[in-house]
This record gives sequence, structure tokens and C-alpha cells, in this order.
Amino acid sequence: MTQETLHRDALQILILGGTTESFELAETLGKDPRYAPVLSLAGVTRSPRLPSIASRVGGFGGIEGLVRYVEQFNIRLLIAGTHPFAAQMRCNAIEAARIASIPVLILERPAWQATTRDVWAHVADMSSAATALGISPRRVLLTMGRKELAAFAAHPHHHYVVRTIDAPPREHLPADAELILARGPFTESAERDLLISRHIDVVVTKNSGGSATEAKLIAARTCGIPVIMVNRPPMPALEGVDAHIVSTIDSALKHVEARHHGLFSTERGV
Ligand code: NAP
Repeated sequence: MTQETLHRDALQILILGGTTESFELAETLGKDPRYAPVLSLAGVTRSPRLPSIASRVGGFGGIEGLVRYVEQFNIRLLIAGTHPFAAQMRCNAIEAARIASIPVLILERPAWQATTRDVWAHVADMSSAATALGISPRRVLLTMGRKELAAFAAHPHHHYVVRTIDAPPREHLPADAELILARGPFTESAERDLLISRHIDVVVTKNSGGSATEAKLIAARTCGIPVIMVNRPPMPALEGVDAHIVSTIDSALKHVEARHHGLFSTERGV
């Protein structure tokens, strides 16, 4: 195949983003003329980092809207590179792939694992995390998005240090809260300083995985502070969908390469 042919036949890929991994995958695929990737962002952060490749911002309008988009732009591969806790979008992606009969590649970074020096209590969701704080007042570090804070507002006897990227609505904040606006990555020493200076005695976090926000766990381990770890939402059923799950950018690239080869060799009989 010539370079020109490759370009004309570029595989149209829609990448549902919101993570560092999906951003990097989009950038890498965009440099390869065999692929025509578009990175889709939800538009929830005020100043999202936009890639150098084609991108779009905002919801599709549910599963139907996503299917319409796939058909309109002749998308041949859907990549769900969303955050492990963006459960709705992942469900929508799987269902849309089923309806549109296209393959879906799920890129999900590995979950954090406790070491023998960690004291983690695993819970299923935010409201269980808030309950697990107990009845005695504690000093809690909360590192999570705006949406999840409401669960803690119902437990106002604790002091909370809340770290988010954008300011949450005042009514979502617990009564006794200090708000810190910051975007990772954070260093271990900065996280340790934060835990010590605020006299934190418990950390609550989602099991997002990845290195950008892992430093708080290392700092908690060093300081002997327990962690309430919110487990990931379960993966939806994948029966009847051409779905594949990978955990690294490299495996995703290999998968896309294999897909491209499969699609084009089948179509041309090469
Ligand atoms: P969600 O609950 O799974 O999705 C809610 C709705 O937001 C979806 O139904 C969809 O709207 C829209 N949406 C989500 N991701 C989108 C994308 N990449 N492109 C276009 N529309 C998208 O998602 P969420 O938990 O609010 O997260 C929103 C975004 O932030 C995601 O892209 C996610 O990767 C990122 N993020 C989430 C977390 C987290 O902890 N949840 C952490 C870091 C980053 P329509 O139904 O209208 O299509």
C-alpha cells in the first residue's frame, strides 16, 4: 500500500477521552497516516487540555446520539478511553458499538493494589465511604470530583480537606470543609506535607489507578494514615459485542494495528 492509499483509507477512530492515557493514545494515532482519530471530551472541566489532533467537546445525547455520530462520521473503531469511574459513558460506548456493529476497545488503566504496609478499607461507593468514616469526628482528605462530594455533606461532624480541579457548588461541600483547587500530578513530598500540615487522619479516594495521583497513597503509607478506597464500578456485560479490554497505551496501539490490518486485508483480500 502506498502512503497516499493509506491516507485515503485512514481508519476512522472515535476515542472517548478524559484520561492521560486516551490523550496520549490519540496523539500517537494522529501521527500515523493509517488512522484518522477524533478525541471526544465530555467538557466537564473548565479548561480542558485539547490535543493537536481533531477533537470534539460535549455529550452525544445518550446511546442514540453516539450511534448517530458513529454512522455520520463512518467510525470503524470506538475506543472507550474514559476514566474507570465514568461508568455511564463506558456503558453507552459498549451499547452503541453493539447497535452500530463496530468493535469497541476499552482502555482501562490497572487499579491500585494495596501493599502490606497499607491500611485500606474497600467500599463499593461514595455513600459507603462516607458511612465508613464512622461516628467520631475525623480529619479527612477527599480527592474526588465535584459530583461525589454530596455524600459527605450528609456527615457534617468530620472536618474535610477537599481537593478538586474546579470549584464545586457551595451546597455540595460539607459544612466544615477547606477547599483546595489543584490539578495533578502531585509529588509524594507535597502530599506528605499536605497530610501533616492539615493533621489528616484518613484519606478517601476512588481507585482511579495511574501514577498522576498515586503520590497521596504513598504519602499515606509513609505517614501510617488509613485509606478508604472506593472500588471501581463493575464492567458491563460484553456478550454480543466485539469488545476487547487493554490496560496500557502500547497494548491499545497493537490492538489498533491488528484491527487495521484485519479490516483492510479482509476488504481487499490481501
Ligand atoms: P459519565 O458519568 O460516565 O458520563 C456522563 C455523560 O457525560 C455521558 O453520558 C456523556 O453524555 C458525557 N460524556 C462522558 N464522557 C464523555 C466523552 N469522553 N465525550 C463525550 N461525552 C462524554 O462520566 P463522568 O464520570 O461525568 O466523567 C466525565 C468525563 O470526565 C469523562 O470523559 C471521564 O473520562 C472524565 N473523568 C472522570 C472521572 C471520574 O472520576 N468520573 C475522573 C477523571 C476524568 P451523553 O450521554 O450526552 O453522550
